[in-house]
Amino acid sequence: MVYVINEKECVNCGLCADVCPVNAIGIGKYSIDPETCIGCGECADSCPAEAIHADSQD
Ligand code: SF4
Ligand code: SF4
Repeated sequence: MVYVINEKECVNCGLCADVCPVNAIGIGKYSIDPETCIGCGECADSCPAEAIHADSQD
């Protein structure tokens, strides 16, 4: 399972990139690299906008 950022909800605060243990989150336009994400959920827990959700497709 990987996590995905909803770009419409994201407020570009950068907290998710700070907490990701494997640096899977790209900065600028925040997005998660599905190849790198280990599905730990730290980013979703840290997001103040609740813009990060588990991707049930994967
Ligand atoms: S779920 Fe974990 S590994 Fe995946 S992007 Fe979020 S913090 Fe990084
Ligand atoms: S923590 Fe949430 S609001 Fe902040 S940059 Fe990441 S996805 Fe966007």
